[in-house]
Amino acid sequence: MDDRQFRNAMGKFATGVTVVATEVEGNVHGMTANAFMSVSLSPKLVVVSISERAQMLEKLNQSGKFSVNILSSSQQDLSMIFAGQQKNHQEVKFERLGEVPVLAGAVAQIACEVSAAHIEGDHTLFIGKVTNIHTEDFEPLIYFSGKYRSLAQE
Ligand code: FAD
Ligand code: NAD
Repeated sequence: MDDRQFRNAMGKFATGVTVVATEVEGNVHGMTANAFMSVSLSPKLVVVSISERAQMLEKLNQSGKFSVNILSSSQQDLSMIFAGQQKNHQEVKFERLGEVPVLAGAVAQIACEVSAAHIEGDHTLFIGKVTNIHTEDFEPLIYFSGKYRSLAQE
């Protein structure tokens, strides 16, 4: 099976879009990720999957804390910025939720402590123990077949 066939198939799974953010020595680093999942209710755990090629991998290993920011339909520009698809962008301001940087305007801000990291193939699965949550009643940004979408109005 070639890579393209796998990616095309995985792209058929419609997802939201998140920006994972962390802070190391006062510097905030963000990365767009759609490999995000709720894992457990008791204790409250989530997972993000980070490529071995991502700068984010070492940052998460160093900080041991991160936020998952579920983007709203008006935040496609942030998804592109944090996927490295938009250069020469304006400075992105982060707020704080507890000890982690978060993005204002996200549908949900989820603060986590790394409780485990599992290397699987060319990615590392970071299990996050949820320490804080903030939600807003915005429409989510959707990603499907490599394109951004929004929910149809009922
Ligand atoms: P870089 O590529 O160095 O940084 C990412 C970008 O964010 C750069 O342009 C950088 O300038 C900018 N940036 C970082 N911090 C700041 C800051 N504080 N202020 C302003 N700008 C900043 N990869 C995965 O591993 N897992 C996934 O689940 C995943 N899902 C994706 C989903 C989508 C929809 C897309 C488009 C991409 C996804 N990727 C995923 C790919 C990943 O987003 C890119 O490969 C990304 O560039 C990797 O980031 P990096 O940590 O290597 O850092
Ligand atoms: P795409 O067609 O490569 O991605 C479609 C789907 O394939 C993604 O939603 C994801 O589920 C999966 N996928 C893609 N690259 C992967 C990887 N390296 N490891 C595991 N799963 C992967 O193209 P796109 O949606 O236009 O993505 C834009 C860029 O972002 C590409 O460079 C892609 O590799 C990267 N991306 C990486 C991941 C990831 O690492 N988990 C997820 C999404 C996108």
